[in-house]
Amino acid sequence: MPESAFGVDAGGTFTKIAAVSGRGKVLRLEEFPTDPAAGPGDFLERVIRVLELWRRHGIKASSFGLGLAGDVDHERGTLRLTPNLPGWQGYPFAKEFHQRLRLPMVVENDANAAVWGAYVTQLERRPRSVVGVTLGTGVGGGLIIDGRLYRGATGTAGEIGHTRVAASGEPCHCGARGCLEAYVGNYGIVRTARKLLRARPGSGRILRRLVPDLKTLTPKHLKVAAQRGDALSREVWERTGEMLGLGLANVVMALNPDTVVLLGGVSRAGHWLLDPVKRVFLEHPFQTALRHVSLGRADNPNAGCVGAALLAREGAGR
Ligand SMILES: [Zn+2]
Repeated sequence: MPESAFGVDAGGTFTKIAAVSGRGKVLRLEEFPTDPAAGPGDFLERVIRVLELWRRHGIKASSFGLGLAGDVDHERGTLRLTPNLPGWQGYPFAKEFHQRLRLPMVVENDANAAVWGAYVTQLERRPRSVVGVTLGTGVGGGLIIDGRLYRGATGTAGEIGHTRVAASGEPCHCGARGCLEAYVGNYGIVRTARKLLRARPGSGRILRRLVPDLKTLTPKHLKVAAQRGDALSREVWERTGEMLGLGLANVVMALNPDTVVLLGGVSRAGHWLLDPVKRVFLEHPFQTALRHVSLGRADNPNAGCVGAALLAREGAGR
């Protein structure tokens, strides 16, 4: 059996570890809640424990890929900036993991890894140019141009979540105002809903029944309430989709991709989110790129660790 690659996807909430075949098939999978406060050294030990156990069970890997939520210095294998993994910046991930595993490795932005994973395993026709957006707590992105992952000058390419869609808009976790993430990240969507609920005390009855304690409100509740006919929840998705459409239209105009693919939990809102995006695309008078692009979802929940493993494999030349 050809050797697999190990891939890790470390997000702000969960870490997933996989052994992945050359074609992107998950052979083994393990996950644990990320504990950012425990620090990167603790994270490393937990990952190593899993991989050493797998090795003892005969699962061999020829490379190792690590996807991290934040601005990754691809050359040095460190994080420059990471709102979701506070205190992890500067830690020498590539050096420390390499010392323990003795495998060729890559450290990659988690959204780049997820978009690459979705590209290889889910987009069967392999379009030449793809813009991928991961919608979750944070909003990340990855760009595939002419069939290759595009990292840009500093490895920061594809940070679509921090392109700005409002001049002096809502605050974003990165510190700026008006970023796309501030409207379409989990916290942005919930903020929109809370604002509407406060402004219209009599509305959103279905949503209020569904979530008696609004402190626990999530985008998932808003999807369920929208499906049950809640007008306020539907309006939240309209507003969210419009902002997403605005942000994506800018990227489509700049890059003229074949495909825009949405990944991550919020993308499961399906047509509630996609319909307003499509409408924004069609309302733009400059139509060529926006009519050409196909808009869809990729729902491989393991795309992040699969992509990290596949990128490591490629980097190692196997
Ligand atoms: Zn931002």
